[in-house]
Amino acid sequence: MQPFADRRALLSARMQQAGGGVAVLLTAPEVPRNRDSHYPYRWDSYFYYLSGFAEPEAALVLVATEQPRSILFCRSKDAEREIWDGFRIGPQAAAERFGFDAAYPFDALDEELPRLLADQPAIYYAMGSDSALDGRIRVWLDAVRAQARAGVSAPARAFDVRALLDEMRLIKDASEVALMQRAASISARAHVRAMRATRPGRREYQIEAELLHEFRAAGSQYPAYSSIVAGGANACVLHYRDNAAELRDGQLLLIDAGCELDGYASDITRTFPVNGRFSGPQRALYDVVLAAQRAAIEATRSGATFIAPHEAAVRVLAQGMVDLELLAGSVDGLIESGAYRRFYMHRTGHWLGMDVHDCGEYREPGAAAAGDGERPWRVLRPGMVLTVEPGIYVRAADDVPAEFHDIGIRIEDDAVVTEGEARIITADVPKAPDDIEALMRS
Ligand code: MG
Ligand code: MG
Repeated sequence: MQPFADRRALLSARMQQAGGGVAVLLTAPEVPRNRDSHYPYRWDSYFYYLSGFAEPEAALVLVATEQPRSILFCRSKDAEREIWDGFRIGPQAAAERFGFDAAYPFDALDEELPRLLADQPAIYYAMGSDSALDGRIRVWLDAVRAQARAGVSAPARAFDVRALLDEMRLIKDASEVALMQRAASISARAHVRAMRATRPGRREYQIEAELLHEFRAAGSQYPAYSSIVAGGANACVLHYRDNAAELRDGQLLLIDAGCELDGYASDITRTFPVNGRFSGPQRALYDVVLAAQRAAIEATRSGATFIAPHEAAVRVLAQGMVDLELLAGSVDGLIESGAYRRFYMHRTGHWLGMDVHDCGEYREPGAAAAGDGERPWRVLRPGMVLTVEPGIYVRAADDVPAEFHDIGIRIEDDAVVTEGEARIITADVPKAPDDIEALMRS
């Protein structure tokens, strides 16, 4: 529980620097799927980051004064409901076990919040994230204002608590990096299992099942996002979802899948031949993407900008497109005009953490706009975690060499920025063509 308490203390300190106030964070609601059945429950990342508390119907209130206090609101013990839905810890035990200064039943929120907000200078919450929350905040503030004649003042300022938390979540602490390494290792094993299980005649969902088996058998609660298992031309659909086609001899299979473990995501992509051997044209394109990924990883280091890996990857990809006669012209010209985007239309990475596309600004917050009217790109610092995922996607077209038609390739690893070279936490799954072929033969 110590990392959670440390984060609450840090958030309180940052709020105090801005004059103090009260932060209110609600966890995510349960979402019905149909009638009496719900989607698998996933708490709100901001709430969990500060509390470690996994039950639905819960709220965290931080009072950032000289003596900061953290107060949990959670479901009361309920013998009847616990028979149907399982154990609830209840406020009293939650306060003890999780280290909160106080805990109340969730139902007491509307009664307690006006008291907690009285005479506080500011309120911090996820502004505009949810109209129900916005409405409740207004009701609580009205209840404070109603006491004005008794000499009570209401918060005069409101801040989005996520602005402070995004900056905190961007730099992972040691416990988070350790957890992300475990999630990454499980996902790497799942990709190895998928490679071994792939052969012509199997269907995409059968390979997806191999991934899910490995995730769940290792204790992962959910996939971090919908797995993409895309054979042949399906790999050129960036967010392919069907996962239903039969895999054919001579195709490549692109798998983009990662598990979530105790709230932290992993995100791996590998592309490999369904029959275990790359054809000449497949290998030629693959080698370009792999070289681009290596250049991007090389550029992922403390002091470089977030965009440096992307720029490194784009240069190698554009050169490869010229060499393989997908495009004509100079590399500089193709980068300048953006012509390379016909075959590489996404960014090379994103922040990774509790959310697969994790929070955190990609440009320096608070910095002045540069000559192009944009704030400068974020400088990478140790503890930031991001993906490195270049690709090439060649849809069939008359002006493209036929040997490359319908080939989609992406290679994605997860990188922790350190003082030196980036630490690749997904390295357990092969990506060199010879290593992939050897694994698939074994
Ligand atoms: Mg991915
Ligand atoms: Mg990704």
